[in-house]
Amino acid sequence: MTKTVGFIAAALAAALAQTAVAEAPFDFDKAPGRLPKNVVPVDYSIAVVPDIAAKTFSGTESVSLNVREATGQVVFNTLNLTLKDVRVDGKPVKDVKNDNDAQLATVTLAAPAPAGMHRLTLSYAGVIESRPQGLFAQPYGKVGGGEGVLLSTQMESTDARRMFPCWDEPAFRATFRLTATVPAEWQTIGNMPVAKRVVHGKLATVTFERSPKMPSYLVEFTAGDMRELKDTSGKVHFGVWAVAGHEADGATALANAKQILADYDEYFGYDFPLPKLDSIAIPGGFSGAMENWGAITYNDAGLLLSSGSSIGDAQGVYATMAHEMAHQWNGDLVTMGWWDDLWLNESFASWMAAKETDRRNPGWKWWETQDGTKEAAMAPDSHASSHAIQVHVTDELQAANAFDPTITYNKGQAVLRMLEAHLGPDTFREGIRRYMKARAFGNATTADLWNALSAASRQDVGAIAAGWTTQAGLPLVSVAAECDAQGKRTVSLSQKRFFLEDGAADTSHWSVPLQIRAGNAAPATVLLTQQGQRVAAGACQEPLSANADAIGYYRVQYDATTLSTNTRAFGTLPDADRIAMLDDQWALVQTHSAPLASYLALAEGMRNSVDSSAWQQINDSLGVIEYDERGAPGHDAFATYARSVIKPVADRLGWDAKADETPDLQNLRRTVIQNLGVWGDAGVIAEARRHFAAFVKDRSAITPDDQPMILTIVGLHADKATFEQLHMLAKQSTDDSERRRLYIALAGARDAGLGEEAAKIALDPEIPPQEIQLRLGMLATLRAEHPRLAWNTFNNKAAELLSSFGNMVPLIEAQFVPQFFWNSLPPDEMEAWIKAHVPAEMGPQIRKGMEGARFQYTRKQALVPAADAYLAGRGSHA
Ligand SMILES: [Zn+2]
Repeated sequence: MTKTVGFIAAALAAALAQTAVAEAPFDFDKAPGRLPKNVVPVDYSIAVVPDIAAKTFSGTESVSLNVREATGQVVFNTLNLTLKDVRVDGKPVKDVKNDNDAQLATVTLAAPAPAGMHRLTLSYAGVIESRPQGLFAQPYGKVGGGEGVLLSTQMESTDARRMFPCWDEPAFRATFRLTATVPAEWQTIGNMPVAKRVVHGKLATVTFERSPKMPSYLVEFTAGDMRELKDTSGKVHFGVWAVAGHEADGATALANAKQILADYDEYFGYDFPLPKLDSIAIPGGFSGAMENWGAITYNDAGLLLSSGSSIGDAQGVYATMAHEMAHQWNGDLVTMGWWDDLWLNESFASWMAAKETDRRNPGWKWWETQDGTKEAAMAPDSHASSHAIQVHVTDELQAANAFDPTITYNKGQAVLRMLEAHLGPDTFREGIRRYMKARAFGNATTADLWNALSAASRQDVGAIAAGWTTQAGLPLVSVAAECDAQGKRTVSLSQKRFFLEDGAADTSHWSVPLQIRAGNAAPATVLLTQQGQRVAAGACQEPLSANADAIGYYRVQYDATTLSTNTRAFGTLPDADRIAMLDDQWALVQTHSAPLASYLALAEGMRNSVDSSAWQQINDSLGVIEYDERGAPGHDAFATYARSVIKPVADRLGWDAKADETPDLQNLRRTVIQNLGVWGDAGVIAEARRHFAAFVKDRSAITPDDQPMILTIVGLHADKATFEQLHMLAKQSTDDSERRRLYIALAGARDAGLGEEAAKIALDPEIPPQEIQLRLGMLATLRAEHPRLAWNTFNNKAAELLSSFGNMVPLIEAQFVPQFFWNSLPPDEMEAWIKAHVPAEMGPQIRKGMEGARFQYTRKQALVPAADAYLAGRGSHA
């Protein structure tokens, strides 16, 4: 699953330490879970008849059961279902206890069933949800006007039980055969191709082919006025589905799907086992994407590309598809035994997606752009209460909480990349192939993965890797260099856990796979296991990187001499080495382990080099200080300084793209120009206004890629007339991507009265019902200039605005809302709000969220005087 937490992605998490215990290979009888293992479903036949107007459905179900030992009771999951006519082997049962709080049904048989095969049959009634949980209805604005509705499903983690009674734990794999009765003019999509379709009057009853053995959380069903773009490659039928009128926007997705599937067949050494793969665009209210086997659902903005889409939109589509398609193996073909090993799904899909996106789009420099996702994990992981990648999960609520995007997705991705580099990509792939082959159509634990990688590499991978998945946090590697008489350098390496908070300490220890580069040589691989470990590291006058290519998930602190050698050579270092040094020095500044001057010296060392990822890091960091300085006496001086740091590269790149420029350089141009405008460069603001005036007359005057940059500057500095122009253009726009950009731009207005206007528009029905993400995006933008207003607007409609996050709402409220709105209200008031909204057992997530929020306050208090002091000192000799 991928969740769009874009509006809070900048916010950074932390959590209560939950130590996971090293585990054994998968064993069905020992897999955690609440359901007894004595009765195992083998095959489900499920038939549902939705009543869309009434928001209810009726269903019948027949499940063949393997009773492993004689039993008088059968226990399975249900939620908000009413069961009727429950029979086993055709005979009425003695009693049915349906406990909605426990989400369990307990059926007591008239007489004990002996070991062997039996059949459970029942009828039931349920609710069509309006959130993406189980079977849900999604309203949307139709092309050409009017409102339509479609049906779709979202089962992960534990919502299949809302649509049909089932053994809703991932270890209970079974085959599924789904039947549904819907309006005859609708199209229907399931995990498998349609086997049979019978039209009777205004309705059609559609039965899909039987699925392979899979967990219940991967069942999928979508029905509506949908259209398909299709193609066939090898044995697989590819479909991209959208609501009528949007299907042409799926062309890129169709091409992506064919390419990615072919690459994955080869990488995993195991061909995609289903006859078809559908990619389904669900209009906006559905958040993120879900890897249902053979029928992946996406938020439509994450799958469809119109003529108004930008390269950033296209990158998002490719990377999201690569993630969900990786799950067709990691997650669907081989499933974690229980939710505590969710990282086997999510970390793998994230890592594989980045690898594939980078491989097929070299101009995107994808791994370098992924540095931001690694930092988004390292920041919360540097708080005292972070949690391990492998978390202990005992119930359904915790299963949803395990989808922590910063740790389960981003940290996991980074750790796998580090492990791949350490073992070598070919060896690593061989291990993955062994793992797939050994566990296909089954379940696995982390131990199964380590064992496969150990067999492929002939080393004990678990001994190196387990520390990274079972311990919270990350190491700070200290590098102390010594020179001998010949000028040869030896470094002494030590590690301790890195904390953002003053005074925190613990004794965690990792086997750290380092990549050490001296000068411009190829990096040497070193496994750091001992404190004070000594390694030869080139010549003393050469720069030194202890995290070459920024592959490692650790921070580095260099001794003063090495840092100053690196600073002098900074403009000449390899791009990725630079970004690791910038990230680490910025983090050390925030922990008061290094002066702000040491970071700014690196930034100033960039001059007019065009390393886009390094510049992105610098723009972000300067942006943090500029934001913290707002309202303080030193603001204007700092903004002037920040502009002077990025001006040389902005001047070098100019306003107009060159013909042969790569996307990363184009992005760099937009980043620096946008920030010059935001930080008050009068020339840039005037130029942006000129471009906008041309855009008002001719919508093709600004390319889709340049629109966010220009519209952001224009929106921020808008007067009433400009604001109204933006609003008019937004209402008139017929392109979804362009319309979103215009609404976001007007929400950025600095003027207080216009901010009030923007807040009203964000909630106005003029924005179509499927665009909840746009509403959130507008409030996120509003927050920058009007933090309290953004909070009040959000708070008044929080339940509605967060509805698309389904069962992840408590996690979002506890962990991400406080870090996102840290500047909007006092921390104690925020904490009270969260406690009033989320269940009491979410204490760890609340602690994470509040710790991150409070850290941002503290950081601001330290950064502002540090920046003022730096500029005062610099002013005397500048
Ligand atoms: Zn996923």
